[in-house]
Amino acid sequence: MAAISAGPEIERLIQLLARLPGLGPRSARRAALFLIKKREALMAPLAAALATAIDKIEVCRICGNIDTQNPCAICADPRRDASAIVVIADVADLWALERAQALNARYHVLGGTLSPLDGIGPDDLAIDALVKRAHDPAVKEIILALNATVDGQSTAHYITDLLHDAGVKVTRLAHGVPVGGELDYLDEGTLAAAIRSRTPF
Ligand code: ZN
Repeated sequence: MAAISAGPEIERLIQLLARLPGLGPRSARRAALFLIKKREALMAPLAAALATAIDKIEVCRICGNIDTQNPCAICADPRRDASAIVVIADVADLWALERAQALNARYHVLGGTLSPLDGIGPDDLAIDALVKRAHDPAVKEIILALNATVDGQSTAHYITDLLHDAGVKVTRLAHGVPVGGELDYLDEGTLAAAIRSRTPF
């Protein structure tokens, strides 16, 4: 890589930014330059927000969400339906579901999905804690909201087997035609799944 004529501090800033998801070295250089130009308006508040995040953000001891309070605001909210737990792989999935505003349930973050190729087994995920929560008599339904990938679906099967005698209904997200989707553009796997999961009209 060609040397950049910037001091070591700026080099360090660029290298750190380049480790963020979605940013390569080129975008990291642009981001660093942008931050430096917007030092007062952006860089200082960003640095302050990062410092606060380091101090205050915790992983919820019940669900694995991240928040500045523990248990998190969702677990602590009495208006949340305690009878349904939505299982997701990652906090990003929790945020996506919250943005959709489609349910008022509680969550359980696994911390990933089973992936033998990457060496991720059941002990690496919060599966035991989920099974414990599922045995709470107040819990009636476990909703598996995992990715429609091989790893996501094998994790869903694994968890379903474990919950066999927990006395809960285990459901999963439907697979099928996306909202606004045109059939002609769908891949065969999605179309076949949509046909299999058809519902009465
Ligand atoms: Zn929580």
